[in-house]
Amino acid sequence: MYYVPDGTQRCGYYECTECGTRFLSLQIGPTLVCPACGEVADMEIGPDEEMPVVKETAKLLQMVEGENVEKMDTLLSLAVTGGNFEWI
Ligand SMILES: [Zn+2]
Repeated sequence: MYYVPDGTQRCGYYECTECGTRFLSLQIGPTLVCPACGEVADMEIGPDEEMPVVKETAKLLQMVEGENVEKMDTLLSLAVTGGNFEWI
């Protein structure tokens, strides 16, 4: 599958409030770091500096379980790869 491993029985369906990206994640929580805009790579920070605060902008929309995991994964990956550019 595209977002989660084959055979996943339970995952979370998230939508980012910043960029609108929707995705599935094995991590379950009320909020998550968005994979599209949340993880800003910061290579220049030194070991003595404070850790940058990573905003958790993606909110859990719903839990997905059982065979719906594969359905949701297919739907979402089609939205990404199937030529739907509305969200850009
Ligand atoms: Zn985002």
